[in-house]
Amino acid sequence: MPELPEVETTLNGITPLLTGKTIKAINIYQKQLRWPIPSTIKKKLTGTKVQHCRRRAKYLILETTGGSLIIHLGMSGSLHIIKSSIPAQKHDHFEMVLTNNQCLRLRDPRRFGAVLWGGNSPESHKLLKDLGPEPLDKDLPADHLYVVTRKRKRNIRDTLLDGHLIAGVGNIYANEALFLAGIRPTREAGSLSKPACRRLLVAIQQVLTAAIKAGGTTLKDFQSPTGNPGYFKQSLQVYGRELGACTSCGQPIKAKMVGSRRCFYCTKCQR
Ligand SMILES: [Zn+2]
Repeated sequence: MPELPEVETTLNGITPLLTGKTIKAINIYQKQLRWPIPSTIKKKLTGTKVQHCRRRAKYLILETTGGSLIIHLGMSGSLHIIKSSIPAQKHDHFEMVLTNNQCLRLRDPRRFGAVLWGGNSPESHKLLKDLGPEPLDKDLPADHLYVVTRKRKRNIRDTLLDGHLIAGVGNIYANEALFLAGIRPTREAGSLSKPACRRLLVAIQQVLTAAIKAGGTTLKDFQSPTGNPGYFKQSLQVYGRELGACTSCGQPIKAKMVGSRRCFYCTKCQR
């Protein structure tokens, strides 16, 4: 599943190929994604120029002279920039054709992704307006997680996934960061000490930064119609490693269902 680093890698891949380009046409092959793609975007975007591409949490925002488009990759989405003469394939649902005859194409086999209209203020879209601060924001206070988790009874893993206290941390990196910080995912968020919260924020920033760096090597795949950009193999320490040896103490990693998602942790190293 594309998480924040994959979305950042996607952003880095598409930005130089889209910025300053004029949109010739919008083609929607399958509008039923997680939410229907609004057909009005054809009229709104045709003839406009892409000015700026950015990321907010796991959303990509493409700002054009006519308004902005919000794209989410869902569970299985990927974006490609290829020649528009290459025919769309089965799971290609949306494309933005440029006047240079390249196109941005969204492939999404499971169709949990989204293409939405963000108008002139995408940040105030209902999906974005309540998001917490960006974890990699350099101005984020060291005690941010401590301050926002006080009196929270929910477990810390779900608190991170929620997105309202800190944005864009998915299950893979929440588990990895909790391991690095030595905190058990099932701990009540409000019970974490100030030093533990500080360690956790640093750990989140470390795992995300390392993954973004690893993703940089896959950028060439953005111009391949068959490549799978951004879905690089991360070196994960706990996620998906049930019964594997803990990289720190050698004990088997435990997996446990918490809510609807699995947690992975070391019962000895994480308290
Ligand atoms: Zn361990």
